[in-house]
Amino acid sequence: MSEDQEKKMEDKKQKEIKITPIKQGTVIDHIRKGRAMKVLKILDLIDRDIESIVSVAMNVNSSMGKKDIVKVEGMELKNEEIDKISLIAPEATVNIVRDFEVVKKHRVGLPDKARGILKCRNQNCISNQDEPVISEFEVVAKDPVTLRCEYCERKMKGEEISENVI
Ligand SMILES: [Zn+2]
Repeated sequence: MSEDQEKKMEDKKQKEIKITPIKQGTVIDHIRKGRAMKVLKILDLIDRDIESIVSVAMNVNSSMGKKDIVKVEGMELKNEEIDKISLIAPEATVNIVRDFEVVKKHRVGLPDKARGILKCRNQNCISNQDEPVISEFEVVAKDPVTLRCEYCERKMKGEEISENVI
């Protein structure tokens, strides 16, 4: 096989590995390796009754090491949804795609509050009892992301946050 042919085969392989583009929707890229399922969870894409095809690629090679990617076809995530992602995957970028073109690219931004999406890690917290109380955390630091429970003031950061996604 000539070097040229070999190169062509190599290129073809590369293309096949690449994530298939979507016509319309949202691509969440540069998710830290291993966090894709948490992203699905925090966006409520697992149990929610939606028409969209959601696909996940994990352990994808990139110039900055391994990453995960989530694609949501036919649905454009709202800013408030995008901001939730930052609690568990602050490096992620969100691409809004229309007609196969990226029309908007966001870095995720931290919200001021996280309401109803995380569980307090204090078992005795009122938000963990059988009370009609919705969990609520204030973002008190950005690097690393640190949250404080509005009820018991217990703080959570880093892994603790992703472990406590409801
Ligand atoms: Zn609490």
